[in-house]
Amino acid sequence: METKYIFVTGGVVSSLGKGIISSSLACLLKARGYRVTIQKFDPYINIDPGTLNPYEHGECYVTVDGHEADLDLGHYERFTDIKTTRANNVTTGRIYQSVIDKERRGDYLGKTVQIVPHITDEIKRNVKALGNTGNFDFIITEIGGTVGDIESLPFIESVRQLRWELGDNCLCVHLTYVPYIAAAKELKTKPTQHSVKQLQEVGIQPDILILRTEHEISPEMRRKIALFCNVSPESVIQSIDVPTIYQVPLNMHAQHLDELVLRKTGVPVEGEPDMHRWITFLDKLRTATETVNIGIVGKYVELPDAYKSINEALLQAAAYNDHKLKITFLHSEKLNADNAGELLEPLDGVIIAPGFGQRGIQGKFDALKWCREHDVPTFGICLGMQCMVIEFARNGLGLERANSTEMDTTTPHNVIDLMEEQKGISNMGGTMRLGAYECCLTPGSTAARAYGSTTVSERHRHRFEFNSDYREQFEQAGMMCVGENPATRLVEVVEMPGKRWFVGTQYHPEYSSTVLHPNPLFVDFVKAAIAYKHERAAITEK
Ligand code: GLN
Repeated sequence: METKYIFVTGGVVSSLGKGIISSSLACLLKARGYRVTIQKFDPYINIDPGTLNPYEHGECYVTVDGHEADLDLGHYERFTDIKTTRANNVTTGRIYQSVIDKERRGDYLGKTVQIVPHITDEIKRNVKALGNTGNFDFIITEIGGTVGDIESLPFIESVRQLRWELGDNCLCVHLTYVPYIAAAKELKTKPTQHSVKQLQEVGIQPDILILRTEHEISPEMRRKIALFCNVSPESVIQSIDVPTIYQVPLNMHAQHLDELVLRKTGVPVEGEPDMHRWITFLDKLRTATETVNIGIVGKYVELPDAYKSINEALLQAAAYNDHKLKITFLHSEKLNADNAGELLEPLDGVIIAPGFGQRGIQGKFDALKWCREHDVPTFGICLGMQCMVIEFARNGLGLERANSTEMDTTTPHNVIDLMEEQKGISNMGGTMRLGAYECCLTPGSTAARAYGSTTVSERHRHRFEFNSDYREQFEQAGMMCVGENPATRLVEVVEMPGKRWFVGTQYHPEYSSTVLHPNPLFVDFVKAAIAYKHERAAITEK
C-alpha cells in the first residue's frame, strides 16, 4: 500500500499530550499489523534538545543511533517498540541549518532564499524522508507547539501543502482542550471552535478532533463541536483523564480512532488490533495490591519529567513484578550524612540518578554510603554509577580525594576521567558518547543473570568513564567491573557481588524499556527491592 501520512497538531494550550495520542494511534495501527513510525517536528531553534537544561523541556531522550531527542520519542518507543532515530526528530534549527548550508554551497542558483518555498520544501523533504524508505505504511508526524504560535507557522504551512500533494494519503488530527468551569458546572467548547478556526485560517481542515477533557463529553456536545468545526460527529473523540497513560490506546480504540484513520485513508478495515499483551500489562497494573517504594536521588526532583524514562521503566518493572509503584524523589542537595538514614530507611530500593556537574553531588555520595553500608538494593545510572565508584574509592579504598575530573580537575585519584576521544572537544552539541554500544557481561554477574545474556546493547550519553588504571584495586576490594565494551574495553557496569543488589551502569538502560519489553535490569532491581521489603517486614513481625 502507499504510505499514509498522519499529522497531529495541538491547539488551545500546550501539554495536552499530543505525544501520547500519536503513540496510542501508532500502537493500535502496529497492533493491526501495519508498519508504523512516528516523528516529531519541534519549532525551536536549537539543533537538538541535547544542549537544553531539563528545566526547559524535561529529559533528553537518546536514540540508538546517538541522537539527543525530545522526550516524546521515549513515549513513541515505549508504546510501539519501534526504534526511533535521528530522522524521527527534526527542529527548526536543523531545517534552517540545512537550508543555510545549501545557500552557502550555491545550491539555490542565485535565487532569493525564503520561508516559502525553501524552508517549507526542506520541512516537506524531512517529513517524507522516512516514508521514502518504503519501510512504513503509516508515518505519524507530531507538530510541536500550539497552533497560532509564530514559530510553528512554517510547519503548519508545510502540512497544508502536503495535504494537497498527498490527497487521500494524508490526514490531519487536531488535539484541543475542553475546559470545565466548576462554578457553572459546564464544559466549554469555545476554545476548541477558536482553535479549529485558527487552523482553517491557515488552510487546514482537521479530519479528526481529539478533545482532552476532565469530564465526559456528551453526544450532544460532540454534535455541536462537529457542526461548528466541519467534521462528522464520529470524528470527534474524547481523551478523558485516565489513571495511566497506557490506558489511552484502549480508550482511543473504544472510540474507533484506528478504524477512522484506516477508513479515511482508504485502507480496508479488517479484524481488530491484537492488544492482548497490552491488556495483560494493564491488568497487572490495576490488580496489584502491594506497593514497592523506590527512591530516586537527583537534583531535578521538583521536575518529574527530568527522569521520565526512569519513572516509566520503574513503572513497567513494578507491573511485571505484580506491584504498584511508589516513587519517592529525594533532592540530592537536601540529603546529607546526618539525614540520610531517616530519608532512605523507608525505601525498598534506591536509584542514583544521571546528571551533570557539581550541584547536589555530595548528597549522592552520602546516599550511596548509607545504602552500601546498610545493604539496600541500589542502582546507579550514568552519573549515578560514577558516584558509586567515587564513593567506594573514598570510603572503601581510602582514596580520600578520589573524584571525577568533571567535578575536580586536580583530584589525585581520577577514578572517573574524561574519555580519550573527548579531550579537545569544545563544542557542546552532539559531542558526547551517544547512542547504543555493545556491552559484554561477566557470566554469573547480577547484570548477566538479569538480562539472561552476556552481550547486550544499551544507550549512552556521557563524556566521562571509569578509569581502568584503578580496576584491580576496586575488584580486590569487592567492586567488580562486570560489563565491558568489547571494542574499547571501557568499563560499562560495576557491581558488588556481596550485596543484595548493588549495580551501576555507565549506560542508560531506561531508554530501552517498553511496555511490552521492560528492561531486564529494571525488572531485576525492582524484584530485589520487593524481596528486601519482605525481608524487613519479616523481621518487624518477629
Ligand atoms: N556527567 C557525566 C558524564 O558526562 C554523566 C552523564 C550522565 O549521567 N548522563 O560522563
